[in-house]
Amino acid sequence: MNHDCLICFLRRFRLLRKKRTVTSYISFYFRSFRSQFSMLNAIFYLELSLEDNNSRVFILLDNGIVRRNPGFKKFSSEELYMAWLVILSSILVLWVASLCKILHESLFASKVTFLNDGGVIRRRNVLLVIAHPDDESMFFAPTINYLISEGHNLHVLCMSTGDAEGKGNIRKEELYLASAILRIPVQQVKIVNHPDLQDGFGKMWNWNLLANIIDEETRAHSIDLIITFDDYGVSGHCNHRDVHQGVRKLLHVTSGRHIEVWKLVSIGIARKYSGIVDIWLSILFSRCQQNGQYECLLNQDPVKSYSAMAQHSSQWVWFRKLFVLFSSYTYVNTLKRVNE
Ligand SMILES: [Zn+2]
Repeated sequence: MNHDCLICFLRRFRLLRKKRTVTSYISFYFRSFRSQFSMLNAIFYLELSLEDNNSRVFILLDNGIVRRNPGFKKFSSEELYMAWLVILSSILVLWVASLCKILHESLFASKVTFLNDGGVIRRRNVLLVIAHPDDESMFFAPTINYLISEGHNLHVLCMSTGDAEGKGNIRKEELYLASAILRIPVQQVKIVNHPDLQDGFGKMWNWNLLANIIDEETRAHSIDLIITFDDYGVSGHCNHRDVHQGVRKLLHVTSGRHIEVWKLVSIGIARKYSGIVDIWLSILFSRCQQNGQYECLLNQDPVKSYSAMAQHSSQWVWFRKLFVLFSSYTYVNTLKRVNE
């Protein structure tokens, strides 16, 4: 096996997509390889064994140079089996513990203090600003479920019909259906269809135009709190990022009028696809921030989120079903306050 062969192997199993990640992946395993027996090098060994037709050759990647049989201990089949067993059991235990935590959250009163001033709940007029129909169910479901359960008055402003594939009219209806599942009054869902705000990669949206539309909506419904994407926009989609910039622009323009703004924190790919397990990291992260600038909201009803996303029939293909199941955004949202 040579270096190129290893890269092909990793790519074939979709472990890697870009060459630049190859280096970090290799160096990560290289570091674990240098240590004594560990589960990580067992995985690496197993992967290499598969590629090398079970010839059980150890590969050492030393600054990009491949060395065969560098003199590490070879593991027996039993050791590898045990390592995998430990890994899979640990994942299973974590999943069960996470499910119990979510269940506990939905059955008992939430200890979250978001928008809860020392136990006094003041009903807020909240505006959720998204870019496309389905953003609400795919990314913001934990936030929506929390706001609705706490009795806040939630409005949704969707900045496009999601017409990238010519399905704008269908997707509009799907958003109304999903909103009904999420218990957002349909009359409080506004979908913008502006020629300069059309769905698509590479279609830049004007931040001033976005700010004007959002401003109009905030005035119409006496909105005092906005929730939207952060500057990366969860998936890096340019429309999500522009929506964030539009809200920032609005803040700049309306500095005299106090509107509280919170953004959904984007997380790295490993956490993004760790599903329900990520709730522990999100809780830990927000607890470490003592300044009240972060809030961690667990989804009290992930099944409802799944049903809401299923209303987007035109988008409900196999990979999105998997996304909703394995995405941590289905189970937890970390919000960060934008302004003081
Ligand atoms: Zn989107």
